[in-house]
Amino acid sequence: MKRIAVLTSGGDAPGMNAAIRAVVRRGIDKGLEVYGVRHGYVGLMEGDFIKMELGSVGDIIHRGGTILRSARSEEFKTAEGQQKAIKKMKEAKIEGLVVIGGDGSFMGAGKLSAQGFPTIGVPGTIDNDISGTDYSIGFDTAVNTVIEAIDKIRDTAYSHERICIVEVMGRNAGDIALWTGLTSGAESIIIPEASYDFDDVMNRIRNGQERGKMHNIIVVAEGVCSGEELKKEVKEKLKLDTNVIVLGYLQRGGSPTAYDRMMASRMGGNAVDLLIHGEKGVMVGWKKGQLVHPTFEEAAREKHAINLDDYNLARSLSI
Ligand code: ATP
Repeated sequence: MKRIAVLTSGGDAPGMNAAIRAVVRRGIDKGLEVYGVRHGYVGLMEGDFIKMELGSVGDIIHRGGTILRSARSEEFKTAEGQQKAIKKMKEAKIEGLVVIGGDGSFMGAGKLSAQGFPTIGVPGTIDNDISGTDYSIGFDTAVNTVIEAIDKIRDTAYSHERICIVEVMGRNAGDIALWTGLTSGAESIIIPEASYDFDDVMNRIRNGQERGKMHNIIVVAEGVCSGEELKKEVKEKLKLDTNVIVLGYLQRGGSPTAYDRMMASRMGGNAVDLLIHGEKGVMVGWKKGQLVHPTFEEAAREKHAINLDDYNLARSLSI
Protein backbone atom coordinates (compact mmCIF):
# COMPACT_ATOMS: atom_id res chain seq x y z
CA MET A 1 0.00 0.00 0.00
CA LYS A 2 1.39 3.38 -1.04
CA ARG A 3 -1.39 5.91 -0.80
CA ILE A 4 -4.23 6.26 1.70
CA ALA A 5 -6.90 8.87 2.50
CA VAL A 6 -8.69 10.11 5.61
CA LEU A 7 -12.07 11.80 6.07
CA THR A 8 -14.33 12.99 8.87
CA SER A 9 -18.09 12.37 8.68
CA GLY A 10 -21.27 12.94 10.73
CA GLY A 11 -21.27 15.35 13.67
CA ASP A 12 -17.94 16.98 14.50
CA ALA A 13 -16.29 16.10 17.81
CA PRO A 14 -13.30 17.53 19.70
CA GLY A 15 -10.30 15.32 19.00
CA MET A 16 -11.14 14.69 15.33
CA ASN A 17 -8.23 16.94 14.39
CA ALA A 18 -5.89 15.02 16.67
CA ALA A 19 -7.05 11.82 14.92
CA ILE A 20 -6.44 13.32 11.45
CA ARG A 21 -2.98 14.38 12.61
CA ALA A 22 -2.24 10.86 13.85
CA VAL A 23 -3.33 9.27 10.55
CA VAL A 24 -1.29 11.71 8.48
CA ARG A 25 1.88 11.59 10.59
CA ARG A 26 1.80 7.83 11.18
CA GLY A 27 1.19 7.27 7.48
CA ILE A 28 4.05 9.49 6.36
CA ASP A 29 6.35 8.00 8.99
CA LYS A 30 5.58 4.55 7.57
CA GLY A 31 6.38 5.71 4.03
CA LEU A 32 2.83 6.29 2.75
CA GLU A 33 1.35 9.23 0.91
CA VAL A 34 -1.69 10.54 2.75
CA TYR A 35 -4.61 12.48 1.25
CA GLY A 36 -7.28 14.39 3.13
CA VAL A 37 -10.86 14.20 1.80
CA ARG A 38 -12.85 17.40 2.29
CA HIS A 39 -16.50 17.32 3.44
CA GLY A 40 -16.77 13.62 4.26
CA TYR A 41 -18.55 11.34 1.81
CA VAL A 42 -19.65 14.33 -0.30
CA GLY A 43 -16.00 15.10 -1.07
CA LEU A 44 -15.25 11.41 -1.57
CA MET A 45 -17.81 11.18 -4.40
CA GLU A 46 -16.48 14.41 -5.93
CA GLY A 47 -12.80 13.49 -5.65
CA ASP A 48 -12.13 16.49 -3.41
CA PHE A 49 -8.73 15.24 -2.20
CA ILE A 50 -5.79 17.24 -0.88
CA LYS A 51 -2.28 15.90 -0.36
CA MET A 52 -1.35 16.14 3.29
CA GLU A 53 2.20 16.87 4.38
CA LEU A 54 3.68 16.75 7.88
CA GLY A 55 3.02 20.50 8.15
CA SER A 56 -0.62 20.19 6.99
CA VAL A 57 -1.51 18.89 10.41
CA GLY A 58 0.77 21.18 12.42
CA ASP A 59 -0.85 23.22 15.18
CA ILE A 60 -4.19 21.34 15.12
CA ILE A 61 -3.87 18.80 17.96
CA HIS A 62 -5.46 21.26 20.38
CA ARG A 63 -8.23 22.51 18.08
CA GLY A 64 -11.89 21.40 18.17
CA GLY A 65 -13.94 20.72 15.02
CA THR A 66 -12.31 19.18 11.96
CA ILE A 67 -9.95 20.89 9.49
CA LEU A 68 -11.27 18.54 6.76
CA ARG A 69 -14.86 19.67 7.50
CA SER A 70 -17.71 17.22 7.88
CA ALA A 71 -20.90 16.61 5.93
CA ARG A 72 -23.87 14.28 5.61
CA SER A 73 -24.84 12.80 2.23
CA GLU A 74 -28.00 10.99 1.15
CA GLU A 75 -26.45 10.14 -2.23
CA PHE A 76 -23.65 8.19 -0.59
CA LYS A 77 -26.22 5.83 0.96
CA THR A 78 -26.99 4.51 -2.56
CA ALA A 79 -24.90 1.86 -4.35
CA GLU A 80 -24.29 4.39 -7.17
CA GLY A 81 -22.91 6.92 -4.68
CA GLN A 82 -20.56 4.33 -3.21
CA GLN A 83 -19.39 3.24 -6.68
CA LYS A 84 -18.74 6.86 -7.59
CA ALA A 85 -16.56 7.27 -4.47
CA ILE A 86 -14.57 4.08 -5.18
CA LYS A 87 -14.02 5.19 -8.79
CA LYS A 88 -12.68 8.58 -7.65
CA MET A 89 -10.32 6.92 -5.15
CA LYS A 90 -9.06 4.45 -7.76
CA GLU A 91 -8.45 7.28 -10.25
CA ALA A 92 -6.39 9.05 -7.57
CA LYS A 93 -4.52 5.75 -6.86
CA ILE A 94 -5.77 5.76 -3.27
CA GLU A 95 -5.67 2.20 -1.88
CA GLY A 96 -7.05 2.54 1.64
CA LEU A 97 -9.38 4.84 3.59
CA VAL A 98 -9.73 5.87 7.24
CA VAL A 99 -13.22 7.12 8.19
CA ILE A 100 -13.50 9.11 11.42
CA GLY A 101 -17.16 9.36 12.47
CA GLY A 102 -20.13 7.70 14.10
CA ASP A 103 -22.40 4.69 13.54
CA GLY A 104 -23.90 6.09 10.32
CA SER A 105 -20.46 6.82 8.89
CA PHE A 106 -19.41 3.25 9.73
CA MET A 107 -22.42 1.87 7.82
CA GLY A 108 -21.02 3.68 4.79
CA ALA A 109 -17.47 2.51 5.54
CA GLY A 110 -18.74 -1.08 5.81
CA LYS A 111 -20.30 -0.80 2.37
CA LEU A 112 -17.04 0.42 0.82
CA SER A 113 -15.24 -2.54 2.40
CA ALA A 114 -17.91 -4.98 1.25
CA GLN A 115 -17.25 -3.76 -2.30
CA GLY A 116 -13.57 -4.56 -1.90
CA PHE A 117 -12.21 -1.15 -0.87
CA PRO A 118 -10.04 -1.38 2.31
CA THR A 119 -11.64 0.90 4.89
CA ILE A 120 -11.02 1.32 8.63
CA GLY A 121 -13.25 3.22 11.08
CA VAL A 122 -12.15 5.47 13.95
CA PRO A 123 -14.99 6.34 16.39
CA GLY A 124 -15.60 10.06 16.80
CA THR A 125 -18.78 11.49 18.36
CA ILE A 126 -19.47 13.32 21.60
CA ASP A 127 -22.47 11.08 22.37
CA ASN A 128 -20.29 8.00 23.05
CA ASP A 129 -23.03 5.91 21.43
CA ILE A 130 -20.98 4.00 18.85
CA SER A 131 -21.40 0.23 18.84
CA GLY A 132 -18.30 -1.96 19.22
CA THR A 133 -16.37 0.40 21.50
CA ASP A 134 -16.62 1.64 25.07
CA TYR A 135 -15.17 5.01 24.10
CA SER A 136 -15.60 7.48 21.24
CA ILE A 137 -13.32 10.45 20.64
CA GLY A 138 -14.88 13.69 21.87
CA PHE A 139 -16.90 12.32 24.79
CA ASP A 140 -14.48 13.34 27.56
CA THR A 141 -14.21 16.89 26.24
CA ALA A 142 -18.00 17.22 25.94
CA VAL A 143 -18.48 15.95 29.50
CA ASN A 144 -15.95 18.45 30.84
CA THR A 145 -17.58 21.29 28.88
CA VAL A 146 -20.99 20.39 30.29
CA ILE A 147 -19.89 20.11 33.93
CA GLU A 148 -18.14 23.46 33.68
CA ALA A 149 -21.47 24.93 32.54
CA ILE A 150 -23.48 23.13 35.24
CA ASP A 151 -21.06 24.26 37.97
CA LYS A 152 -21.72 27.85 36.92
CA ILE A 153 -25.47 27.30 36.68
CA ARG A 154 -25.40 25.79 40.17
CA ASP A 155 -23.91 28.99 41.65
CA THR A 156 -26.94 30.95 40.46
CA ALA A 157 -29.38 28.16 41.29
CA TYR A 158 -28.04 28.19 44.86
CA SER A 159 -28.00 31.98 45.22
CA HIS A 160 -31.51 32.49 43.86
CA GLU A 161 -32.95 29.21 45.15
CA ARG A 162 -33.94 28.11 41.67
CA ILE A 163 -34.70 24.83 39.98
CA CYS A 164 -32.62 24.59 36.79
CA ILE A 165 -33.25 22.10 34.01
CA VAL A 166 -30.18 21.47 31.85
CA GLU A 167 -30.89 19.80 28.50
CA VAL A 168 -27.86 17.99 27.08
CA MET A 169 -27.17 16.06 23.88
CA GLY A 170 -27.94 12.35 23.55
CA ARG A 171 -30.74 11.14 21.27
CA ASN A 172 -30.40 7.43 21.97
CA ALA A 173 -27.64 7.35 24.55
CA GLY A 174 -27.68 8.98 27.97
CA ASP A 175 -23.92 8.87 28.54
CA ILE A 176 -23.44 12.65 28.55
CA ALA A 177 -26.41 13.17 30.90
CA LEU A 178 -25.32 10.37 33.23
CA TRP A 179 -21.66 11.37 33.46
CA THR A 180 -22.36 15.08 33.83
CA GLY A 181 -25.30 14.56 36.19
CA LEU A 182 -23.28 12.31 38.48
CA THR A 183 -20.10 14.40 38.45
CA SER A 184 -21.87 17.71 38.97
CA GLY A 185 -24.14 16.39 41.73
CA ALA A 186 -27.43 16.89 39.87
CA GLU A 187 -30.50 15.98 41.90
CA SER A 188 -32.19 14.19 38.97
CA ILE A 189 -30.82 12.60 35.81
CA ILE A 190 -33.16 11.62 33.00
CA ILE A 191 -31.76 9.27 30.34
CA PRO A 192 -33.27 7.18 27.53
CA GLU A 193 -31.95 3.90 28.98
CA ALA A 194 -33.88 4.15 32.26
CA SER A 195 -37.63 4.55 32.59
CA TYR A 196 -38.54 8.12 33.31
CA ASP A 197 -40.75 8.67 36.32
CA PHE A 198 -41.85 12.25 36.90
CA ASP A 199 -43.09 11.44 40.42
CA ASP A 200 -39.53 10.56 41.33
CA VAL A 201 -38.27 13.94 40.05
CA MET A 202 -41.01 15.69 42.07
CA ASN A 203 -40.19 13.72 45.21
CA ARG A 204 -36.54 14.68 44.90
CA ILE A 205 -37.48 18.35 44.65
CA ARG A 206 -39.90 18.08 47.59
CA ASN A 207 -37.50 16.11 49.78
CA GLY A 208 -34.79 18.69 49.17
CA GLN A 209 -37.13 21.54 50.03
CA GLU A 210 -38.25 19.81 53.23
CA ARG A 211 -34.69 19.82 54.48
CA GLY A 212 -34.13 23.42 53.41
CA LYS A 213 -32.42 22.84 50.09
CA MET A 214 -34.18 25.20 47.73
CA HIS A 215 -32.06 24.79 44.61
CA ASN A 216 -32.20 21.79 42.34
CA ILE A 217 -30.47 20.72 39.13
CA ILE A 218 -32.17 18.34 36.70
CA VAL A 219 -30.10 17.02 33.77
CA VAL A 220 -32.16 15.66 30.88
CA ALA A 221 -30.92 13.94 27.73
CA GLU A 222 -32.60 15.46 24.64
CA GLY A 223 -33.73 12.00 23.49
CA VAL A 224 -36.17 11.67 26.42
CA CYS A 225 -37.88 15.05 26.28
CA SER A 226 -37.00 18.70 25.92
CA GLY A 227 -36.18 20.93 28.87
CA GLU A 228 -39.25 23.03 27.99
CA GLU A 229 -41.57 20.00 28.23
CA LEU A 230 -40.16 19.21 31.64
CA LYS A 231 -40.56 22.83 32.73
CA LYS A 232 -44.28 22.66 31.84
CA GLU A 233 -44.69 19.48 33.87
CA VAL A 234 -42.99 20.98 36.94
CA LYS A 235 -45.20 24.09 36.67
CA GLU A 236 -48.41 22.07 36.30
CA LYS A 237 -47.74 19.54 39.02
CA LEU A 238 -45.63 21.45 41.56
CA LYS A 239 -46.61 25.05 40.75
CA LEU A 240 -42.93 25.94 40.70
CA ASP A 241 -40.99 28.02 38.17
CA THR A 242 -37.83 26.65 36.61
CA ASN A 243 -35.06 27.90 34.34
CA VAL A 244 -34.26 25.85 31.25
CA ILE A 245 -30.76 25.87 29.81
CA VAL A 246 -30.23 24.11 26.47
CA LEU A 247 -26.50 23.64 25.99
CA GLY A 248 -26.78 22.66 22.30
CA TYR A 249 -23.73 23.12 20.08
CA LEU A 250 -21.68 24.44 23.00
CA GLN A 251 -21.11 20.77 23.84
CA ARG A 252 -19.60 19.90 20.45
CA GLY A 253 -16.81 22.45 20.25
CA GLY A 254 -13.73 23.37 22.21
CA SER A 255 -10.18 22.26 22.69
CA PRO A 256 -9.97 18.48 23.29
CA THR A 257 -8.93 17.24 26.72
CA ALA A 258 -5.67 15.32 27.16
CA TYR A 259 -7.69 12.09 27.22
CA ASP A 260 -9.34 12.81 23.87
CA ARG A 261 -6.01 13.80 22.30
CA MET A 262 -4.48 10.56 23.60
CA MET A 263 -7.33 8.35 22.37
CA ALA A 264 -7.40 10.12 19.00
CA SER A 265 -3.65 9.64 18.60
CA ARG A 266 -3.80 5.97 19.56
CA MET A 267 -6.80 5.18 17.37
CA GLY A 268 -5.70 7.24 14.36
CA GLY A 269 -2.19 5.74 14.42
CA ASN A 270 -3.59 2.25 14.84
CA ALA A 271 -5.95 2.65 11.87
CA VAL A 272 -2.94 3.28 9.61
CA ASP A 273 -1.11 0.25 11.00
CA LEU A 274 -4.17 -1.89 10.26
CA LEU A 275 -4.30 -0.73 6.62
CA ILE A 276 -0.57 -1.44 6.23
CA HIS A 277 -1.14 -4.97 7.59
CA GLY A 278 -3.86 -5.57 5.00
CA GLU A 279 -6.86 -5.28 7.33
CA LYS A 280 -10.18 -4.00 5.97
CA GLY A 281 -13.75 -3.63 7.12
CA VAL A 282 -12.93 -3.18 10.79
CA MET A 283 -13.16 -0.34 13.26
CA VAL A 284 -10.71 0.63 15.97
CA GLY A 285 -12.51 0.28 19.29
CA TRP A 286 -11.54 0.54 22.95
CA LYS A 287 -12.51 -2.15 25.47
CA LYS A 288 -11.14 -2.90 28.93
CA GLY A 289 -8.20 -0.55 28.40
CA GLN A 290 -7.15 -2.01 25.06
CA LEU A 291 -7.59 -1.38 21.36
CA VAL A 292 -9.95 -3.90 19.73
CA HIS A 293 -10.91 -4.43 16.09
CA PRO A 294 -14.43 -5.72 15.49
CA THR A 295 -15.67 -5.86 11.90
CA PHE A 296 -18.30 -3.24 11.04
CA GLU A 297 -20.92 -6.04 10.99
CA GLU A 298 -19.86 -7.37 14.40
CA ALA A 299 -19.90 -3.86 15.84
CA ALA A 300 -23.35 -3.08 14.39
CA ARG A 301 -24.81 -6.21 16.03
CA GLU A 302 -23.56 -5.10 19.44
CA LYS A 303 -25.73 -2.37 20.91
CA HIS A 304 -23.97 0.36 22.88
CA ALA A 305 -24.87 -0.06 26.57
CA ILE A 306 -24.76 2.47 29.36
CA ASN A 307 -23.47 1.56 32.83
CA LEU A 308 -26.67 1.30 34.87
CA ASP A 309 -24.65 0.76 38.07
CA ASP A 310 -23.44 4.34 37.64
CA TYR A 311 -27.04 5.46 37.15
CA ASN A 312 -28.12 3.75 40.37
CA LEU A 313 -25.10 5.18 42.16
CA ALA A 314 -26.00 8.69 40.98
CA ARG A 315 -29.50 8.19 42.36
CA SER A 316 -28.23 7.15 45.75
CA LEU A 317 -25.69 10.00 45.93
CA SER A 318 -28.24 12.68 45.18
CA ILE A 319 -30.92 11.88 47.77
P1 ATP B 1 -23.17 11.24 14.55
O1 ATP B 1 -23.18 10.18 15.61
O2 ATP B 1 -22.37 12.40 14.96
O3 ATP B 1 -24.53 11.59 14.03
P2 ATP B 1 -22.82 9.56 12.26
O4 ATP B 1 -21.63 9.07 11.54
O5 ATP B 1 -23.70 8.51 12.89
O6 ATP B 1 -22.34 10.63 13.30
P3 ATP B 1 -24.82 10.06 10.19
O7 ATP B 1 -25.40 11.33 9.71
O8 ATP B 1 -25.72 9.01 10.69
O9 ATP B 1 -23.70 10.47 11.27
O10 ATP B 1 -23.95 9.42 8.99
C1 ATP B 1 -23.00 10.19 8.30
C2 ATP B 1 -23.04 9.84 6.83
O11 ATP B 1 -22.73 8.44 6.65
C3 ATP B 1 -24.40 10.00 6.17
O12 ATP B 1 -24.68 11.33 5.77
C4 ATP B 1 -24.29 9.07 4.97
O13 ATP B 1 -23.62 9.69 3.90
C5 ATP B 1 -23.42 7.93 5.52
N1 ATP B 1 -24.31 6.82 5.90
C6 ATP B 1 -25.15 6.76 6.96
N2 ATP B 1 -25.86 5.62 6.96
C7 ATP B 1 -25.47 4.94 5.84
C8 ATP B 1 -25.85 3.69 5.24
N3 ATP B 1 -26.78 2.92 5.80
N4 ATP B 1 -25.22 3.33 4.09
C9 ATP B 1 -24.28 4.10 3.53
N5 ATP B 1 -23.90 5.29 4.03
C10 ATP B 1 -24.47 5.72 5.16
